[in-house]
Amino acid sequence: MPEPDDALSPATIAVTAGRPDKVPNAPLSTPVVHSSTYVASPDSPQPGDLGYGRWTNPTWQAFETALGLLEGGDALLFASGMAAVSAVVEQVPDGGRVVVPAAAYNGTLVLLGQLAERGRLDVVGVETADTDAVRDVLRTGAHLLWLETPTNPLLEVADLPALVEAGHAAGAVVAVDNTFSTPLLQTPLAYGADVVVHSVTKYLAGHSDVLLGAAVTRDQQLRERLHGHRTTRGAIPGPAEAWLALRGLRTLHLRVERAGANAAELARRLADHPAITRVRHPSLPHDPGHARALAQMRGFGAIVAIEPAGGAEAAERLAAAVELWVHTTSLGGVESTLERRRRHASEPLRVPESLVRLSVGVEDVEDLWADLDRALSISR
Ligand SMILES: *Cc1c(COP(=O)(O)O)cnc(C)c1O
Repeated sequence: MPEPDDALSPATIAVTAGRPDKVPNAPLSTPVVHSSTYVASPDSPQPGDLGYGRWTNPTWQAFETALGLLEGGDALLFASGMAAVSAVVEQVPDGGRVVVPAAAYNGTLVLLGQLAERGRLDVVGVETADTDAVRDVLRTGAHLLWLETPTNPLLEVADLPALVEAGHAAGAVVAVDNTFSTPLLQTPLAYGADVVVHSVTKYLAGHSDVLLGAAVTRDQQLRERLHGHRTTRGAIPGPAEAWLALRGLRTLHLRVERAGANAAELARRLADHPAITRVRHPSLPHDPGHARALAQMRGFGAIVAIEPAGGAEAAERLAAAVELWVHTTSLGGVESTLERRRRHASEPLRVPESLVRLSVGVEDVEDLWADLDRALSISR
């Protein structure tokens, strides 16, 4: 595990971690190492030997060092967020019980649903914001408690410290998908979670040009198992992708701060908009997750969900009417994007049909507002 450097703030870590040693003529920027194999040591493999390209790669390691320092654990990079999710889920023994938010990221739910159907796992959905309800389900034991907070796309905030404790009391490994928050806003390992998972595709890389995932843990045994899974299943990233993600990570703090400020301002204005019946963003004082987010996060994130008064059709008209915002799936890039989530058949049915998820970017907030307000007025 990288040594946590308490003296440095996350912003400084984002800029400085995972660089080559500062020696004369060393490159300042981490190089991309394109090599499928490495020259062997004269004797049997030595500690630190790179060996073969499916085991590790210096460019992955640079990103892993930086993310590990930010999350406070040991990071492993994967080919995508789903590859990392799958690596953690595969650690559950056959017939094991997994407790998961009933409305989590749909890819995670599809994966768990398929494994449940095959009889590989027993999967129980819970209302993640209802701590007592989750505790009740955990009372009969679990192997894995999967948390996502705030959830995608309902922005429900789970009580992280309470649920980590309840999960451990049930004998479960506690995993937290920290994609929405990033380590700048929330560090679940500090609350005792066993493993953090990221879709690096989203905020960490931040430029909508790469797919990657990561798992971060302080538990060395779990780290070894996840590393073994990555190696044997071949769920490995490309070196160029790792480099793009590392370049993106250098500005993570600036992007998260600006996008979060934009999101809070837009949420505040949307809450008063006559064409909108409901706005979800933990920054809003009336939001059900507001108090919890204040207690356990260092910001509210940049995803906002809105429900147009005109229902699903008005939501689709809104998506078609925006000009600056991009109608697309995915989130966490510098560009502002939006999408009606229920257009995907795999989206949980508890997500309202009209719900439009906004991923607020780092553009000028007045330009974003003008486009959204105009599109709302013509799509009602
Ligand atoms: C996108 C996403 C994932 C999956 O990541 P990919 O990089 O697309 O595989 C997992 N969790 C959350 C919360 C996401 O938004």
